Formats: sequence, structure tokens, C-alpha cells
Amino acid sequence: MSQTAEPVVKTSPPALREKYHCLIGGKLVGAESGETFPSFNPATGEKLADVPACDARDIDRAAQAAQNAFPAWRKLSPAERGTYCRRFAERLRARKDVYAALDTLDLGSPFNMMRVDVASAANQIDYYAGLGSELKGETIPSGAQTFSFTLREPFGVVAKITPFNHPIMFAARVAAPLVAGNTLIVKPAEQTPISALEMVHDLKEIFPPGVVNVVSGDGPSAGAPLVQHALVRRIAFTGSVEVGRAIMRSAADGLKTVSLELGGKNPMIVFPDVDLDRAVASAFNGMNYTWSQGQSCGSTSRVFLHSDIHDAFVVKLLEKVKTVRIGMPIDEKTEMGCLVSEQQFNKVMSYIEIGKKEGAKVMIGGGRPSNPDLQRGYFVEPTIFDGVEQRMRLAQEEIFGPVQSIITWNDLDQVTEMANSVMYGLTASIWCRDFSKAYRMAQEIQAGFVWINDSSKHFLGVPFGGYKQSGLGREECLADLLSYTQVKSINVNVS
Ligand code: ADP
Repeated sequence: MSQTAEPVVKTSPPALREKYHCLIGGKLVGAESGETFPSFNPATGEKLADVPACDARDIDRAAQAAQNAFPAWRKLSPAERGTYCRRFAERLRARKDVYAALDTLDLGSPFNMMRVDVASAANQIDYYAGLGSELKGETIPSGAQTFSFTLREPFGVVAKITPFNHPIMFAARVAAPLVAGNTLIVKPAEQTPISALEMVHDLKEIFPPGVVNVVSGDGPSAGAPLVQHALVRRIAFTGSVEVGRAIMRSAADGLKTVSLELGGKNPMIVFPDVDLDRAVASAFNGMNYTWSQGQSCGSTSRVFLHSDIHDAFVVKLLEKVKTVRIGMPIDEKTEMGCLVSEQQFNKVMSYIEIGKKEGAKVMIGGGRPSNPDLQRGYFVEPTIFDGVEQRMRLAQEEIFGPVQSIITWNDLDQVTEMANSVMYGLTASIWCRDFSKAYRMAQEIQAGFVWINDSSKHFLGVPFGGYKQSGLGREECLADLLSYTQVKSINVNVS
């Protein structure tokens, strides 16, 4: 791997504020307890800021504020709500570099890719802002004496709990619940809260007080009381399977509607007839090495190679991986940054050790890069294991880091079964020139989002979500907008 030799020049650009606040009821506030917690730059270990450590009292304040804002917000037309959201999208675009720099500092992903995240959030906001007229009901033929119709109404207060891996992209995706007429509480991940706490300044200027509230804090102190709060009727969660399960259990007490976007151990199945260069590029891009250091739920972390092309494919994939420029995330030339935290670093390193012990072969990577400038951060080289077998934990468990496993196949039924044998079912990538074969496999694969001859890309309007334990509900589409409504049937006696 080539590593940038230049010394680190920019670690604390002026984008950082002196003090960070939450947004509750249109006011910039700290935690009621006065407590804060630090957020660190995982590339250098330096402290970036102290941010409010919210607890149940702050959650209660936020829930009351969101509830108070709800009657006026729901009375606006969907188009008017969309206009507010569009203004917010414009602001995100105008301040793209600030948001991208904050995420780069807080998360460790490359600056250029964090710009893409900001743009992606803004585009998604515009998409939902234009869908307001789809919040429509139906008329039902109940007979000559009755006029029956349905309305789609908002739930009230929605909680949005987001993960560390794409901080602003997830936190800023506020439009689906808002256009549907709900008010919102956003809680970013405790590892990467800064961009969401920057966002409060734009939200405060753009939205009426209480329509969007932002609270920072960890899972037990802030996330759990948010899920439990009686005023919160709908929860949108993106994160790990374990926490997703805990949220669903907790939400059961209040019979709350929950959507869950969880993990993946996603297969990429390569047939022998493919254009190798394109398929290799797709295996590389699909792993999101240069977007999130593999810390993405949709990554193609299991690559099933037909034995006829296995050797040639591996040679080309290793060549591709060797070209990655690992460096300080804030450096614009950097293509791959570091992992988010020591905990994540230790987890990934322990999986690399497990893989070796299980008998898989490290083809490239396997540890920290040697560049002396990168020793203080949680950098891990792109790591590829060959000879991975189905029984191994490497083939079963989500690592959430830059570790890709190669498994060889010969038999179509067997590879389908192997691909489906994990508890996850988020994405799958099938590389095959024969469309009927590829389509048959796509039908057999237990995953909510399948690419044929592609990987990694999302498309606005195309439902994204998981089968099995990868989640509940679909995002990035009309169904997502509608999932923030409940249906009311009205029956009029017209006799
Ligand atoms: P990741 O490690 O991918 O960020 P997690 O599932 O650990 O995923 O965390 C995702 C989000 O869920 C974070 O905002 C975290 O604070 C929050 N969270 C963690 N535990 C809970 C919980 N018990 N209830 C509600 N939210 C939680």
C-alpha cells in the first residue's frame, strides 16, 4: 500500500467550535446535568471537543418540545414542510466543506468522501421534499350509503438514532419524517457527535422551534430513554443488530413503530464468465475501503470466486488494493483513513487474529500501516483473507472494518446456500454475464438489496433495507416516507 509521506499539516481546521450545544425547543442548550463527554480525532488521538452528555431529563425536555411543535407543524401542507427541508438541503450544500471536515476529524474517513456524504444527505432531503403529494389516501367502495376514505397522518414525535459510520449523512436525513408531518429528535452516535451538533445552528435558523431537536449522549444514558419516552411514537434506528434488538424489545412496551437498518455480511458471487477487471473493481469498491474503511453495513465482505477465475481475480484484487493511499483523513490526497475508535480497532484486529487461527490466509494487510505518521491513529491496512471456509467466523460475523474474505465455489446450489447461510441479509452482488443465471440467483438470494454486475451504489427511490436480521423496513424510497404515517379510515353516512 502506498502511504502518504508528507507530514500531517491540518488536524484542527477552524471548522471546530469552542463549545457544542444540543438543540431543544429552538434553543442551544447543554445537558441539564452540566455533564459533557469528549470526542476524539481517531487519526491522532487528540481531543476535538467536549459535547453535552444528555440523560433522561434532556430527553424529556426534547420530547416535550417536539410534542409542543407538532400541532402547528402538522397543519402546514406537505409542500410547505418540503420547502423548509429544501432550505436545509441548500444550507448543507453551501457548508459542505465544514460538515465534511468535521466528520473527517471525528470519524477518520477521507475528506473527499465525507463531502460525498453531505451531498448525498442534501439530495435525499430534496427527494422527499418533492414527494409530499404522495402522502395521499384512498377511497374505498363501501356501498351506496357510505363514503369511505383514508388519510395518512403523522405519528407525532419521531426519534432518529444514528450510527458512527456516516455521521452527517445519517443525522441530516430528516426529511422523510418531517415532510410526513412529524416532529423529530435526532441522536447521533457518541463516537461522532460533532457534525450533528454543528447542524443545530442551521436547523435553528431554518425550522420553527421544536420541529427538529438534537441531543448528544451514549446509548444507555440518552438512546434508551429516548426509545422509552411515552411521547415518542416512531423510532428510526440505524446501527448494530444487538442494539436494534434491544430497541425493538424496549419499543414493544409502548407498542411503538420501529424501523431498523442493521448490519450485513454481504456476499459478492462471481461467475467464471465475467470481465475480470470490472468485477475486481466492484469487489474493491463494494468493500468501501475508501469510503468508510469497510465500516459500512452494505460492504461486500464475502467474495465467492468461481474456482476457474479464482487465481487471476485474486492477483488483480491485490494489485488494486496495493494502490490505495492510506493517510491522514483530512489530507485531500488520502483515499483511506482510519477506524473510528480504539474499540473498533481492537475488534477488527481481533478478527484478523481469529481468521489466522482458523486457518485462513492473509494475502495482504493484516495490521497497522508502517508509515510513522500514522502510528497514533487507529489505522488498519486493507486486509484480504483467502481460503476462507464457511465454518470460520470470518465467513459468518460482521467485522465492520477493512477485512474481506474470499471463498472458492464450484457448484451453483452450494454457493447460493453458503451465501444465504448467515443471519444477515442486507445486500448481495452477483457478477455474471448470463442475465438469466444472474436473475435466478438474485431470486434465490436472501437479501433486501441486490446488484447484478455492480456493487455499493444506492439509487434514490429504490428501497434499501434488509432481510432476516439485517433489519425491518425500507429506506430511500416512497415506502420510507409513508412509514412515517399512520392510516386513518373515515366513513361518512351519505344517506
Ligand atoms: P454502531 O457501533 O454501528 O454505531 P450501535 O448499534 O452500537 O452501532 O449504535 C448506534 C446508535 O445506537 C448510537 O447512536 C448509540 O448511542 C445508540 N444506542 C446504543 N445503545 C442503545 C440503546 N440501548 N438504546 C437506544 N440507542 C442506543
